[in-house]
Amino acid sequence: MLCISLTACSLASSGNEQESEEDVPASSQKESEQNDADKEGQSSSPEETEQTPADEEKDTASEKTEKDKVLDDGTVEVGEPESLQVVVNKRRKLPEDYTPEDLTVPNVPFYFTEDHPKKQLRKEAARALEKLFDAAEQDGIDLVAASGYRSYDRQKRIYERNVEVYGKEETDTFSAQPGTSEHQTGLAMDVTSAQVAFKLEQSFGETNEGEWLADHAHEHGFIIRYREGAKEITGYMYEPWHLRYVGKDISTDVHEQAVTLEEFFGLYPSDE
Ligand SMILES: [Zn+2]
Repeated sequence: MLCISLTACSLASSGNEQESEEDVPASSQKESEQNDADKEGQSSSPEETEQTPADEEKDTASEKTEKDKVLDDGTVEVGEPESLQVVVNKRRKLPEDYTPEDLTVPNVPFYFTEDHPKKQLRKEAARALEKLFDAAEQDGIDLVAASGYRSYDRQKRIYERNVEVYGKEETDTFSAQPGTSEHQTGLAMDVTSAQVAFKLEQSFGETNEGEWLADHAHEHGFIIRYREGAKEITGYMYEPWHLRYVGKDISTDVHEQAVTLEEFFGLYPSDE
């Protein structure tokens, strides 16, 4: 069996900040963590429909999916990529030409100093991240931002390089295909801390910073997007570092119901 990380994110290395260091298999993964995949129950999902719901109902799920377009390969191109509640995963892709119009660099500490497009988030998410970091600081928690916005083209370069090195089958287990990375929305930010040497690894979830985030991210409109034990639903293993902005109402509901975004919007299963 392969022992690698299934990550939707770039895997940040401390120090040198090259694209070549992103989306590479992590060696630090524990296979036992995959056992948690069985824990996820089917409870408390507001909508249990498996695919895009019919559009006659005036519920949340249909409102957000009625503009989606089913592609020839059975995947979906999301119709409202600019929605703060957009659900992007391996079968719900962003349009190739989608670039958020309101990208800005949040005023938070990053673990690198140079300018880089990945410092960016969409405006509302950036302001919310600043408040989240302020609240963390007040509680004695030192968060550091690692990676936010990533363009379709940049994800494409990363993915194609990984295919050259690792082959497609292996690459698909840890690197998002272009259009399927939530980082293209400008609503996702990977955060880390000195305690894990600014890496993106699952042990971050057990640090003070990781635990604080799990408890408080929703208070500022963010969710931990890739929950522990939900790989079958989200398509990715547990990523305690990957924050997704959805707005405070939904983040609170998702947190209280302890579900994935897919389940919350009735879009499970997400994977192939
Ligand atoms: Zn991420």
